[in-house]
Amino acid sequence: MTSAISIHPAVDQGVKPGAQDFAGGTLVCKCDQNPVEVTVNAQCAHNHVCGCTKCWKPEGAVFSYIAVVSRDKLSVTANEHRLEIVDASAAIQRHACTGCGVHMYGRIENENHPFFGLDFIHTELSKEDGWAAPEFAAFVSSVIESGTKPDQMDGIRARLGELGLGVYDCLSPALMDAIATHTAKAAGVLSD
Ligand SMILES: [Zn+2]
Ligand SMILES: [Zn+2]
Repeated sequence: MTSAISIHPAVDQGVKPGAQDFAGGTLVCKCDQNPVEVTVNAQCAHNHVCGCTKCWKPEGAVFSYIAVVSRDKLSVTANEHRLEIVDASAAIQRHACTGCGVHMYGRIENENHPFFGLDFIHTELSKEDGWAAPEFAAFVSSVIESGTKPDQMDGIRARLGELGLGVYDCLSPALMDAIATHTAKAAGVLSD
């Protein structure tokens, strides 16, 4: 299932299903020497490709490849001193390697944020097979902000559909519902 339209190396040959009972792996940055290592002791959730301009993506990729995992399942296990927060004022604090620039994990420190408790990870940084497959494409229209021509969008959306990825210009319905539910509970409109 190859196509002239490239989305991200992890999906361009077709979406690989995740493995049952997969329990995590080690994310390693791209430095040849003293790479940063992040150990994740869980399967990821909500894996997706993202078109925003903030997520890290490899050279040449149009989308990033990103998932979440509970923050208590993630720890930096080598060369943590090489990490730096890309933008401390952003809702998601992306911890990047100062050597190669790869974002090793993104963390939310605001306890009132709908996704507080979840860390964002790029499972492509792990050699292990079995990570949950991507389910959808988020912030699709935003790839234009990284230089994709607007007239390429029909082809990109068609390719995402062919890969079985739901195409959304924000997040998936499940995540948008989670955000709205959080907001409604905070406002007292919804009770638990
Ligand atoms: Zn993104
Ligand atoms: Zn690095």
